[in-house]
Amino acid sequence: MKIICIGRNYAKHAAELKNDVPDQPVIFLKPETALLPKGEALQIPAFTHDLHYECELVVKIGKTGKAIPAADALDYIDGITLGLDFTARDVQENLKKKSLPWELAKAFDSSAAIGDFRKIDGLGNLKNVRFTLEKNGETVQSGHTADMLFPVAEIIAFASRYFTLQPGDAIFTGTPEGVGPVKNGDVLKGILEGEMVFEVRIA
Ligand code: MG
Repeated sequence: MKIICIGRNYAKHAAELKNDVPDQPVIFLKPETALLPKGEALQIPAFTHDLHYECELVVKIGKTGKAIPAADALDYIDGITLGLDFTARDVQENLKKKSLPWELAKAFDSSAAIGDFRKIDGLGNLKNVRFTLEKNGETVQSGHTADMLFPVAEIIAFASRYFTLQPGDAIFTGTPEGVGPVKNGDVLKGILEGEMVFEVRIA
């Protein structure tokens, strides 16, 4: 499986990191080795002193598709959940200054936590889905998919022009504002439509 991630998909998050709002989806990938094994705590890597959480709606692909029309895109989704796109912000800032790719900051081992998947029945076109991230019991991010610059169907259509989507692939759809650092002992909980879908401890 592969993990496709969207950057800067919420205007207020683009603004908090002083980035322009993109005119097409910003895409990067994480390899399968980036998956944080279920139930394991995240060890902060030695190469960063500013590891950030980014809570995002994640969709799982259920069937193979290439150049999928946006009108058909939701048929390719097998489930949704929330995930954490862990980011070594200090490493990323250095890469951005040099206009280099972000993988060292975002695709390292265990940089992708993925929660328990839910079926999308009853969630319509996925433009009215609410989620929150709690850090140590306090809400630090609140997302509403209506605020996405590129809705889920458009992301699937766009990404599948470049990459064949396969069953099991996961798409991280971007983070709303409120990203911030983690430290050892922190506990992150993702709540999707009122239901907890992950709890991740920082070692
Ligand atoms: Mg992200």
